[in-house]
Parts: sequence; structure tokens; C-alpha cells
Amino acid sequence: MATTGLFCFSTDLRLDNNALLLQAAAQVDKLICLYCAEPTTLSHSRQAPNRPSALRQQFLFETLCDLNTNLHAYNQHLQVMVGSTADIIPQLITQHNISHVYQSNSAGHYERSQWDSLRKNYPYIEFVSLDTQTLFSQSELPFALDQLPDTFSKFRKHVEKLTVKAPLSPPQTLPPSPLKEREWRSLWEASFYAISARDTGLVAAFDGGESAGRKHLDRYFKTGLARTYKETRNGLDGMDYSTKFSPWLANGSLSVQRILSELRSYEQQAGANDSTYWIYFELLWREYFHWYARKHRAKLFRPEGITQLKPKTAFYAERFAKWCHGNTPYPIVNACMKQLNASGYMSNRGRQLVASCFVHELNLDWRFGAAYMEQQLIDYDVASNWGNWQYLAGVGADPRGHRRFDLEKQTAMYDPKGAFIRRWQGDKFTAALDSVDASDWPIDRKLN
Ligand SMILES: Cc1cc2nc3c(=O)[nH]c(=O)nc-3n(C[C@H](O)[C@H](O)[C@H](O)COP(=O)(O)OP(=O)(O)OC[C@H]3O[C@@H](n4cnc5c(N)ncnc54)[C@H](O)[C@@H]3O)c2cc1C
Repeated sequence: MATTGLFCFSTDLRLDNNALLLQAAAQVDKLICLYCAEPTTLSHSRQAPNRPSALRQQFLFETLCDLNTNLHAYNQHLQVMVGSTADIIPQLITQHNISHVYQSNSAGHYERSQWDSLRKNYPYIEFVSLDTQTLFSQSELPFALDQLPDTFSKFRKHVEKLTVKAPLSPPQTLPPSPLKEREWRSLWEASFYAISARDTGLVAAFDGGESAGRKHLDRYFKTGLARTYKETRNGLDGMDYSTKFSPWLANGSLSVQRILSELRSYEQQAGANDSTYWIYFELLWREYFHWYARKHRAKLFRPEGITQLKPKTAFYAERFAKWCHGNTPYPIVNACMKQLNASGYMSNRGRQLVASCFVHELNLDWRFGAAYMEQQLIDYDVASNWGNWQYLAGVGADPRGHRRFDLEKQTAMYDPKGAFIRRWQGDKFTAALDSVDASDWPIDRKLN
């Protein structure tokens, strides 16, 4: 009997080095290539003030268009459906007598829970999942997941010398789809934001999709920027001081194993140095947070994180709004937030500074800051975002407890001439942080 597979693309939006797609191509006679766009998935956390930004959606939209174009070369297409995965997959299973469902392993607790309940509800269907987003698969780790080291340094020492598998080529053929291609762009536009103008130079550099990601990867190593990465990586503005791999890595349109293989080729041709090692080092941070999210699941979103300590915070709506809009008494923070809002990107140094300010200067609940970044970052990645926020809030994998950055000192080090602050108008803010204080609160004294 002919078999039909359902391939659920998620954060593996590529054909290159996609072991799961190769497996599907070898196993079934027909294949539906599906992407479920969940309006609420993109902002499902209670702290998320809004839907994902127009820029983040634009990047995803471009990625899906590119994937669809690349699938056309195989006489295949991408079926984009707007709605909940938990509703769409069961419908397709029934309508098309699906025998196999494929989905890459996700770091997200919500996505994993959905997958687990689907498996439970359809015990007669083969559910296939693989680790396609990481350097190593779970079985290659030299420890059980619940034994994941509690700090990055210990993790790095365990895995640094392991061999990373060479990337696989795209499939040679794909089984045909039982479905006719349906127009989905207008559906997308009706369900999500109208795409806003892309008005900064930086944004234009982040074209979504596997094709653009591969071009960016080639350009990065051809221009030799990797030679000086370690010295330049703390920059605040521009395309060249760091790799800018993150947007494509986050939705899987670039494979991390492909990046590593290009890095190794570069080292063979041009020679390895501290900078090339440091790119690998940073990719190991990403790896660590992925397994950290897989281990700690829902704890990634709890106020106390993986600790027993609930941080003492309050919710000051005014402070939160000022931080989001870049209107705090801290010019460096304002510049970073304005850059984020305009471009969908912020440097690693900037992310550390704005998160430290959020937690330590404004005394806000770290989860609201993480949720705001989830909304705004083109490179939003559940594990890296929430893991880094926990780390900075002192409820995560930081052996030192918490990191408070001296914002004046940091400004002197990383923006000594104030060029970054001027460019993003970080020095323009309303004088007071709070317009009300405790004595202004409208509490009726007679009630006390
Ligand atoms: C508060 C906060 C939130 C963050 N949120 C995200 C997020 O949602 N998505 C995301 O991809 N990264 C996140 N990061 C990590 C880091 O800031 C970005 O990966 C990096 O700035 C992306 O730019 P790049 O590709 O040029 O990085 P590079 O400096 O060139 O690094 C190369 C790659 O290494 C990885 N990497 C580097 N630093 C880190 C790190 N600290 N943690 C995890 N991986 C790292 C990324 O995959 C990156 O693309 C966050 C960091 C902080 C402090």
C-alpha cells in the first residue's frame, strides 16, 4: 500500500543538511511539506505584549517563499497553513491517511508538548524526529540530558573535542505531494501584519531564506572577517564586527553543521587562529542553551528559572514602556533599544547591557524583557533568548549568581566617542524615569 508522509517544517527551513527530509524522501511514496504558521505561537507567552514585529514576520515570510521556490525544483511545494499545529496536523492525518509524521526536535517546551500529545493520540502512526538544529545529536552527547553540566564551561570541556558530523547534501529527489499547490501569500498577509517599510541599511542585509543565508555565509568567509572576529565581536553597529549568522540559524535556514564545516575549510586555507576558535566557542554557547532548554523545559520561563530563588521584582508599566522605546536615563540602553526596534537586530554586547539595565537598574521582572525581545528580534531563538536572560537575571546557568554591568564604564569602553549613541539618538530621553512615586498612588486613605 502506498504511504503518505507529512513533513512539518519548523525551525529547519532548509533543504541543505536536513537529515530528516532525506529520511522522509527515502521512506514514503507521497509527501506533504507543511508549515503551520500559528498566530499565537509567535506570541504565546503571557509576558509577550504583542505579536512578533513586522520585521520578524517579514524575515519568516521571505524564508518560506524561498523554501517554496527551492521545493519547486523537486516538483514539490510548501503548504503554508495558518492555525494551530494541534488542529492542522490531525485534520491532515485524517484527510490524507498519513502513515508517517516528521518534525525536527525543537528546543521549545510548548512545541515539544504538542508533539508529545500528537504521538500519544495517534499510536498507529510513525512519528519521526531528529536533531537537525545542533552540532551534536542527543545520542552523541557524552552525558545523559538530565546530567547536562550546570555551567557552560563544564559543558564546553566535555564536548569541544568531539567530532561534528559533516553536513549532508540536499535530497536528489522528493516524493510528489498528494495536494495541489494553493496560493498562501494573501492568506498570510490577511492573518499577520501588513509588512512595513524596511528603512534601515542593516535590515536590507537580512534577507530571509536559505539562498540568502548561504550567500551570507560564503561572503563572510571570502572577505576574511573571521580572521579578526575575536577583536571585533563586541562592536555595536554594522554588519562586519560579528558573523550575523544568527537570523538564519534561528529559523534553521542555515545549518549550524554547515557553518562549522565552512569554518573548518576556512581554517585549512587561511590558517586557524584565536578568532576562528572563538566563532566555534560562540556556537558552543548556542549549543549549550539548546540542550539547557531541552533539559529544563518549562523552567526556562519561570521567574526563579532553574534556581529556588524568586527574584524580588515589581511590574512598573511606565519603566517597561520606557525601556522598550529607548527612553530611559541610560543613553547606551536607549540607543540599543532604538536600534532593535528599527532593525530587528541588536549586538550581543547591546543585549547584555539592556538586559542588565532591565533587571538591575529598573528592577523589572526579567521575563517581560525576554518576551519583548522574543517579539522584536529577527533572530529570536527560544533557547538562546530565554537562556541568556536567565543567565543575566541570576536565575540560570551563571556560576557567579548575577551580572550587573556598569553602564557608564561600558559606554566608555564600547562607544568612547558616542557615535553609536548619536546615530540612534540614545541621548534623547525624558528626564525622570518615573512620573509617579509611591506617595502619588491613588489609594483611598479611608480604606486603610
Ligand atoms: C539577553 C540576550 C538575548 C539573546 N537572545 C538571542 C536570541 O533570541 N537568538 C539568538 O540567536 N541569540 C541570542 N542571544 C545571543 C547573542 O546575542 C546572539 O546570538 C548574537 O548577538 C547574534 O549575532 P551574531 O550572529 O553576529 O553573533 P556572533 O558573535 O557572530 O556569534 C556567532 C554565533 O554564535 C552564537 N552565539 C553567540 N553568542 C551567543 C550567546 N550568548 N548565546 C547563544 N548563542 C550565541 C549565535 O548562534 C551566533 O550567530 C542573546 C543574548 C543575550 C545577552
